[in-house]
Amino acid sequence: MPAPAKKTQPPGTTCAYEGCSESAWSESPDGLCLYHAPQNEKDHDTAREVWQYARRKAVSSDGCSFAGWHFPRDPDGKRFDGLVFAGSAVFSKATFQSIASFSESTFQSIVDFSDTVFKYIANFSKATFKLNAGFIGASFRGKVMFFETLFQGDAMFHMATFKGVAEFSKSTFRGYAALCRANFQHYAWFSETNFHGEAEFSGAIFQNNARFARAQFHGDAEFSGTNFQGDAVFSGASFRADARFIDAFFRDGRAVLVDLPSWALLQRGGRPFYRREQGELLYRMAKEASRRRGDYRHAGQFHYAEQCAIESGRRKACGPKPWKGRFWSCLLELGFARILFGYGEKPHRVLLIGVLFIMFWAGLYFFFAGIAPSNLNDQQVLQYKPPIAECLHFSAVTFTTLGYGDLIPKLGFRFWADMEAFSGAALMALFVVGLTRKYVL
Ligand SMILES: [Zn+2]
Repeated sequence: MPAPAKKTQPPGTTCAYEGCSESAWSESPDGLCLYHAPQNEKDHDTAREVWQYARRKAVSSDGCSFAGWHFPRDPDGKRFDGLVFAGSAVFSKATFQSIASFSESTFQSIVDFSDTVFKYIANFSKATFKLNAGFIGASFRGKVMFFETLFQGDAMFHMATFKGVAEFSKSTFRGYAALCRANFQHYAWFSETNFHGEAEFSGAIFQNNARFARAQFHGDAEFSGTNFQGDAVFSGASFRADARFIDAFFRDGRAVLVDLPSWALLQRGGRPFYRREQGELLYRMAKEASRRRGDYRHAGQFHYAEQCAIESGRRKACGPKPWKGRFWSCLLELGFARILFGYGEKPHRVLLIGVLFIMFWAGLYFFFAGIAPSNLNDQQVLQYKPPIAECLHFSAVTFTTLGYGDLIPKLGFRFWADMEAFSGAALMALFVVGLTRKYVL
């Protein structure tokens, strides 16, 4: 029996890959060309030939198509670093068997990496995409670096899979950043990333920690239906437009971190939510996450921030229209719920305001000579000018509804004293409720 003949391609046939006009490679059993055949990684010389041709093709001004190509390990280690892709660059369905590196490359035209498979590290650090960049359905099996990358057009990462660390730190998205339904199986870093257009993460899954520390969202940030399985860190991030977290999922026991408005103003001179009412959802998530972890102190702070955001939204709805009833109800709520009570989070404010009340009323009694000792006759009462210490004492005793009876309000001041006793009782009740809410429940 003769040994089966080695399957080789007769010279003159073209590559079996659809649309490829290269001639078939004699060593490809499937009738593919050198560039489409997975066998091209068999030795250094073959691999070198593939890469040298690829680099020549990349810089040609009519654009280049590497669709379905199979990139072996580059024996020279040059890859696509620092190249200027003059025309459009198509890498759809290509496979990078080893490191794929495009660091400091410039893509002058549109770029298509849809369904591209990066089996190892993919490095796009400091690359510039002048027009739209498509990574739809791309599969990054190793670490991927988009560090300090500049996307001047839209960046599409729909349904991309990141198996290794996804590093997008300090990158800039000038257009629409679409990471809808992207799957981050490892850490996702978006620290100090600048999103100038809309940033969309709806339906994305972060299976590990997602860091958006000091990220700047100039456009709308869409995290609706995003699934955060690890910590979600938004410390130092600022949302200048809408921040939507509707139906976002945060796993129990993991942290949701976002700056408090007061803290951010002190530290950075900016606030986390430029439209304050946009903070409502994220603060609520942060509150619930803190509570579940037993961190009641932060839960309380986030509760306060959430309530402030809600109230800010309401105030915007009310608007500066004093002739409308709603304006006054808003004002009343602002005065009562926030300033006086701190939404139950700041009971000490009630105490402080109580002291101010006592002093204010004491001042009234003093300037209008409104009180007198109870043992004087009518004539003496009229002429009596109480010292300030007596006024303070009477005010405190009235405020706390203690009422010793050693000093009494003069005729015509009884109503004032009644008012003070009434507000004192109300404030004391608020104080107790606030304390209970904060320390007992
Ligand atoms: Zn081919």
